[in-house]
Amino acid sequence: MFLRKVEITYVSPCLADPQKIRLKAELSDDITEVMPYLNATVKAAIYNHEAPNLTLSKEFRLITLYPRELTMIKALNTTDAWQVIDWLQELINDTYARRSEIAPDYRRKRRPHPLQLYSWLPRLNCKKCGEQHCLAFAALLFSGQQELKNCEPLFSHNYREQREVLLELAKALR
Ligand code: SF4
Repeated sequence: MFLRKVEITYVSPCLADPQKIRLKAELSDDITEVMPYLNATVKAAIYNHEAPNLTLSKEFRLITLYPRELTMIKALNTTDAWQVIDWLQELINDTYARRSEIAPDYRRKRRPHPLQLYSWLPRLNCKKCGEQHCLAFAALLFSGQQELKNCEPLFSHNYREQREVLLELAKALR
């Protein structure tokens, strides 16, 4: 087995949504080698080969994989987090086992879809950016008529993780 064990090391309420949790977990093995293969196969993954790290989502849950660690935000509770971790471990091990059939993808990222941008925004529909709602902001961001810095809530402490992902996605829009 490539990744033998995942251990949750830290849990706290989500800053942006205290009903949900955020967590960190330690990986028993270095998963750097499998990241380009995950990047090639996981739809809408965000990969930074230099770092290295890879971000993906499972429905509303947002996960970032590092060589020996993962972070997850917006999990419902620890039971839900463990289910997602089991799914991830299986995904990683299955991808590693099939790596001879997959062409690894080392590229930073393909251009993200507006809905992908929307999913990482605070989604408060507060109009502070001058748009009627976050979906309109995402569409204009995609077409280059809006800038991430105009979403004021995104730059508050509560949205740190989402901001990091969006800043990474914005690089692929240029
Ligand atoms: S400022 Fe941000 S959170 Fe508020 S409506 Fe605009 S995109 Fe949405």
